[in-house]
This record gives sequence, C-alpha cells and structure tokens, in this order.
Amino acid sequence: MRLDAAIADAAVRLSRISDSARLDAEILLCQTIDMPRSYLFAHPEDELDSLTLNRFEVLMQRRLNGEPMSYITGTREFWSHQLLVSRATLVPRPETELLVELALRAIPRNAEWQILDLGTGSGAIAIAIAAERVMCTVTATDISAEALAVARENVRHTDLSNVICLLGSWTAPVAGLTYNVIVSNPPYVRDNDEALRNLTYEPLSALVSGKDGLDDIRILASDSIGILAEGGWLMLEHGADQASDVADILSAAGWSDIRCHNDLAGKPRVTVARQNGK
Ligand code: GLN
Repeated sequence: MRLDAAIADAAVRLSRISDSARLDAEILLCQTIDMPRSYLFAHPEDELDSLTLNRFEVLMQRRLNGEPMSYITGTREFWSHQLLVSRATLVPRPETELLVELALRAIPRNAEWQILDLGTGSGAIAIAIAAERVMCTVTATDISAEALAVARENVRHTDLSNVICLLGSWTAPVAGLTYNVIVSNPPYVRDNDEALRNLTYEPLSALVSGKDGLDDIRILASDSIGILAEGGWLMLEHGADQASDVADILSAAGWSDIRCHNDLAGKPRVTVARQNGK
C-alpha cells in the first residue's frame, strides 16, 4: 500500500474517536517508520511493506481503543518543552499553562525565590517555571516514585539546574522549609464523574479526589500555609465548577486576597490566594 493511501485510510478510521484524525494518523505512521513528518509529504508514493503495515496497525489499534496520543508517542509538548510522559503521569493539559502564566506574573524576572510545585507528575509546571525564572529554585514533589522518575528525566533533558525533585505526599518532603510561591495541579475530579469514562488510561490517583473532588485541595489549603513566606502565593488549578467551593476552603483555612482566573476558554480554573493579603 502507498504511504499516502495508508494515511488517508487511517485518518478515516480515526475520525470516529479523534478530532485530529489526520494528524494522529501522520504521527502514528512517523513513529512506525521512524521518520519526521516532512518525510510523509516528500514521499507520498513510498510503498509500505506488510511488516510495516502490521506495526502501524498495532499503533492504530491502541489509538482506536482511546489511548491518548501522548502515551503512544511517549511525549507531550507543554510551554514549548517536549516532555516525556508515561502512564504514571497525567498528560499535561494546555489549560494548565494558565497556572504557569499566573506564577510567572507573580515572580519578578530576577527574583531568587523558592518555588514549590506539589504533585508535579511529569514535571511540566515545575520545568516551565524554572526555565522562565532561572534565578529561582523550583522544588517539585510527587507521591508516585514512577511519576517522579519521569519528572527527573524531563529535568535532565531540559538541562535545567534549578529544579529539585522530592518523593513524598504533598508538603511532607519539604516540612520546615519556606516558599514564596506554591503551585499545584492536584487531582480534583469527583469519584463518580462521568468524565472519568474517557480518562481510563490516566492514573486515577492523579485525577480523582473523593466525593466532591476537593479532598486534596482541602489538604493543600491547610498544609501550605505553614511553609509559605510572608506575603507568598498559593495557586491551585481546579474544575470549572469548583471556584466558589475552593474560595470557601481557602478562606476557612486562613487565606486572603482569594481570586479565581479564567482559562482561554473563559472558564474559572485557577484560584490564587495570599497569606496576610500582602
Ligand atoms: N483537567 C483534567 C481533566 O478533567 C483533570 C486534571 C486533574 O484532576 N488535575 O481531564
């Protein structure tokens, strides 16, 4: 079968499950033949042998079963960094870039601040901030040793010397230390949320947080206060319908200047709070 025909055929099949069927088909074929995408456009008439077609079909089946492209390719772009991901980590979402943006707005360009990313997963947020604020030290924690190994690998690839990865639950690995900005994209999905049906490939522990999805945000709201520098910030990603609950949790825990920010889709997704409102 010709290369262009294989792509066209795959794109039709993938359109059932993907909004980017043609792109997915091209990327999966590139992975199969270990060539860059430019090769596809330069050599549409290449004949694919049956062995190659079989290997392509294996990847096609994974995608048709709903596996995210990022797990099949093992990579995902976030804040223009090409990151490794595995099934031990969430696939970084574009909306999480709002959290990075807000953190960068708060951190002066030449600040030598201590930044903390709790539940770092692939390390996406920590790496994005560390690359933009090289004088800061970014500490990234995760309870999953497997996820932390992926984060460490990503830090190594990006050649950053200002990221420290620590294993442990939330603030446990950094007890007694002090931070100027604490960021987190914690699990916040309700345990009975319908959306989970489409997220079966991602680690539940990174997605789900009890009945109302707010268990971990409650922990973060109370545990972060003790390790925050005077006037420091806490920034939390959450679901679009959780802004007022998150504000209530934060104010009950003693936070002030609580403000929620909208993502590019206009949804309230990141809440920022300060200690003492300074
Ligand atoms: N934004 C993710 C989703 O709903 C959830 C990520 C999370 O729980 N931190 O697909």
